Amino acid sequence: MGLTRSEQMSRIRGKDTSPERLLRSALWRAGLRFRLQSRTPHGRPDVVFSKARVAVFIDGCFWHGCPEHYVRPRTRNEFWSAKLLENVERDQRQTHQLEAEGWRICRFWEHQIFESLPEVLETIRAAIQGEQWSPPVSWRVVQVDALPGEGDMEQRWMEELRSTEPRRFVVGRRSTKKWKRSHGQSGSGL
Ligand SMILES: [Zn+2]
Repeated sequence: MGLTRSEQMSRIRGKDTSPERLLRSALWRAGLRFRLQSRTPHGRPDVVFSKARVAVFIDGCFWHGCPEHYVRPRTRNEFWSAKLLENVERDQRQTHQLEAEGWRICRFWEHQIFESLPEVLETIRAAIQGEQWSPPVSWRVVQVDALPGEGDMEQRWMEELRSTEPRRFVVGRRSTKKWKRSHGQSGSGL
């Protein structure tokens, strides 16, 4: 179809409703004042609350291995697999490093911004207030292998963002379902 994957993703998301923009305007309305893309010692979060040392990242469902929406590309499998693993490992490294230096890290999937913005805001508010803060669990797909001779079955390897345990895998039926916007706007036809 002649589109690059990032062009496809930006089409899916729509140009004027980027998750970053949605989150920022919701934070503003909630009275939470932040800095845009301030640098931290390890990476550039989408939103930074510098006084509270809270960093917020919005992770794209495809690029960062969302368990609900990651779909194994049918072409250039090795390239995309390497890319996925590289992104997840960077997420883990940045999170560990920043947390070791006293930051609180909030990482959300882009679909959470569209589907559960109130909960996202509450998580951020709790991180800023710092009482009884515990970071949300975040499973990530790190690898998906087709199971030869098993039809549309595939094996997925997942890791938790902060886990140091070995990878886990589940066997699942391959989903050919594409990302569909669920926040009620046009443009889901891919
Ligand atoms: Zn997702």
